[in-house]
Amino acid sequence: MMLWLVFTTGACNLRCSYCGGSFNPKVVPWRINYNPVKLKELIEKDNNATVIFYGGEPLLNPRFIMWMMDNVKASRWGIQTNGTLTELLPNEYWRRMSVVLLSIDGRREVTDAHRGFGAYDRVIKALMRLKSIGVNRLIARMAVTRLTDIYIDVTHLLNIGFNLVHWQLDVIWDGKWDVLTWAKSNYLPGVRKLVELFLSNLREGRVIGIVPILGVLTAYLHKPYRGPPCGAGYRSIAISTDGRILSCPIAVHENWAVLGNVNVGFNLIDIESQLPEMCKTCEYRQYCGGRCLYAIKEGEEYWGLDGVLTVDYVTKETIRTILEIGPEVKELVNKGVVKLSDLYYDPILDSTEVIP
Ligand code: SF4
Ligand code: SF4
Repeated sequence: MMLWLVFTTGACNLRCSYCGGSFNPKVVPWRINYNPVKLKELIEKDNNATVIFYGGEPLLNPRFIMWMMDNVKASRWGIQTNGTLTELLPNEYWRRMSVVLLSIDGRREVTDAHRGFGAYDRVIKALMRLKSIGVNRLIARMAVTRLTDIYIDVTHLLNIGFNLVHWQLDVIWDGKWDVLTWAKSNYLPGVRKLVELFLSNLREGRVIGIVPILGVLTAYLHKPYRGPPCGAGYRSIAISTDGRILSCPIAVHENWAVLGNVNVGFNLIDIESQLPEMCKTCEYRQYCGGRCLYAIKEGEEYWGLDGVLTVDYVTKETIRTILEIGPEVKELVNKGVVKLSDLYYDPILDSTEVIP
């Protein structure tokens, strides 16, 4: 049972500030340049495959998406898209998507500041359209920056109709900024308010779709993470348009990430052996799994040791805040207010990372 993140293109129609847009076509070609039958054969060896289309902007290559969905046997289909080109895929394919992740950062002004004027309105239009044609698992995928107010932006996205909200901090993969001051004054207090909101709903028997909270509670109530919850290289792989199979879809330039290719197959990694000492001995390891393989490998190069330790402080505070409600959550389960199974979240099925 694996997550297959399938690049359909290296091109993107937007240039968001934290990303920069299309890949160099020499690194991630803008068209598939391997035989897709080879990928079909690999995926079909997995009897419980989740296939998520990825890019670039995956909807720039709708023909490949349709070919895959028409010809490959998989348990679940999904897509991570910026939501601007949804009309390029016919409704019958959308209806077969088990999960759709739309990139949106929160309120209009926050989203448009990074993704470009009009981005917010286009995503909301896509959200409404996909709901109306019967897609019933829609996840908001936020990039969180200093403009974000995590409480206001997450609740905004839940209120406008997303089933789940997940976020990633704009750290390590972008220019360095003062995360610590912002986290202490705004972000961490906002996370605490979200956790309180989650708990007050749970007392009424409602589970609200805040992915980091559900993901950490799953490790607390069900089973620990062996490695980064995204599954990097041990439960999930990414297939680049050139046929390389990677442990992480962000690591398109890095040799350590190459696990094989579609023609010869691939080997998964022994994730425990990849964790640094700091994670192996960490009291939060079972909830965090080391957070992010890419940051483990490249974090110091980009943000230096102090930057890595700052992100880690934020991670630990976030996990601690969520775990504080753990005992009461257990009690609510024991009293039958909420079912234990409603508090099970597997990030592999949704292609989320759990730890922001
Ligand atoms: S909290 Fe930090 S040290 Fe602990 S497992 Fe996660 S990344 Fe590693
Ligand atoms: S969390 Fe890190 S290792 Fe996992 S997919 Fe994202 S960048 Fe890659």
